[in-house]
Amino acid sequence: MNQLDRVDPEIAAILHGELERQRNNLILIASENYASRAVMEAQGSVMTNKYAEGYPGKRYYRGTSCVDIAECLARDRCKALFGAEHVNVQAHSGTQANMAAYFAVLKHGDTIMGMNLAHGGHLSHGSPINFSGKMYKIVPYSVRQDTETLDYSDMADIARKSKPNLIVVGASAYPRIIDFKVVREIADEVGALIMADIAHIAGLVAAGAHPSPVPYCEIVTTTTHKTLRGPRGAIIICKEELAQAIDRAVFPGTQGGPFMNSIAAKAVCFKEAMTQEFKDYQFQVVTNAKTIAKRLLENNFELVSGGTDNHLLLVKLLKEGITGREADETMERAGITLNKNMIPFDPATPFVTSGIRIGTPAVTTRGMKEKEMVEIADLITVVLRNIKDENTIKDIRSKVLDLCSKFPLYPDLT
Ligand SMILES: *Cc1c(COP(=O)(O)O)cnc(C)c1O
Repeated sequence: MNQLDRVDPEIAAILHGELERQRNNLILIASENYASRAVMEAQGSVMTNKYAEGYPGKRYYRGTSCVDIAECLARDRCKALFGAEHVNVQAHSGTQANMAAYFAVLKHGDTIMGMNLAHGGHLSHGSPINFSGKMYKIVPYSVRQDTETLDYSDMADIARKSKPNLIVVGASAYPRIIDFKVVREIADEVGALIMADIAHIAGLVAAGAHPSPVPYCEIVTTTTHKTLRGPRGAIIICKEELAQAIDRAVFPGTQGGPFMNSIAAKAVCFKEAMTQEFKDYQFQVVTNAKTIAKRLLENNFELVSGGTDNHLLLVKLLKEGITGREADETMERAGITLNKNMIPFDPATPFVTSGIRIGTPAVTTRGMKEKEMVEIADLITVVLRNIKDENTIKDIRSKVLDLCSKFPLYPDLT
């Protein structure tokens, strides 16, 4: 980064600091990952200089011969990866993908049924402080209090009563398999469309480590930077009959020029996702999450729904009398980066919470396996059992550094 060091030493130093932070901490934030050098090269490339409003073959700008090929490749690879009929690869982010999807199929004031934010849903699924909650009538569904898993018969009852135009299914903090086939049956009974938001589990879906919603849903949105391990951004998959409505809702409906650098990087991500290595990685992500869950249960912690089927788990801290906020703050000082999270029926506020969320995508990208997961679960246990003991926290910090040093990250990046 010679140029940046010279032109802007302040920002260069911050970037070096961020690289070291990513290297020297255990990143357990369930929505984060480490993109490959190839993905980052495409994203940080000359493609950032190009305006290309419109779509390949129908642009409002000249000079698009190269970016057109990149966008076509991104679309074709993505369609092959997910078995999709149509895909839009221009969405800038998960929230913007969802906005465009709603605009494509709903009118202002229509009814959306979405998962309760406090039970694992996302802001863009109808939170009152998000555009989705302001523009549409929102009917939330929840998890069962006893099992803390989705209650499909309750979902069906709510759907019969509220007659939603769109059922949104997908979550940011739900550790179990989602049964898209059952959601299809519910939607058919009440005449609703389905949008599956697989932002968190897209990598698992691509690899076959989680059932795919693509055959069952009119629309599937996802970010590309979580388990999918690509650049920051999103995509919208849809049935052929919605292709034009979706494309128009993205551009000119809700966005201007596409980020062609991100689209080139998405194409690289989809190519990587077709390899056996990627499939093995996704299954290891799940094995690793199950291993941490098992060890934390052995260490006497309570988990939301009692465990996990995917890349994340939620630890309930009510019994320990620790808040999520206290836990994630102390954990960060120990070199373990994770986040506080609401648990179902949480008595605490969203800023405090009674739980933490643990995800394995990033540590698995570093090459860590079951042995390291047991070690990580034990490090977390020691921190939670000694939350006010600064010497113990310091000791864990040095153990975390040891573990990180055995799994080099971006070894040739300086
Ligand atoms: C992360 C996430 C999003 C939003 O992605 P952004 O790119 O941050 O806007 C949308 N839906 C779900 C379920 C998510 O987990």
